[in-house]
Amino acid sequence: MGEDPARLRVSCRDCSFEQVVDACGDTKPADVLVEHGQQTGHTLSVSKVGE
Ligand SMILES: [Zn+2]
Repeated sequence: MGEDPARLRVSCRDCSFEQVVDACGDTKPADVLVEHGQQTGHTLSVSKVGE
């Protein structure tokens, strides 16, 4: 049983905000990115968990 590769970490470059999302779940990384970006004007990046 390996780790599920479909987990992505959305992290903010401008504050300590960070959220890990399941790519197969209801919440999409893009949704988290857009929501936080709209609320704060911050820049976020998405990376794979475990790399
Ligand atoms: Zn932020």
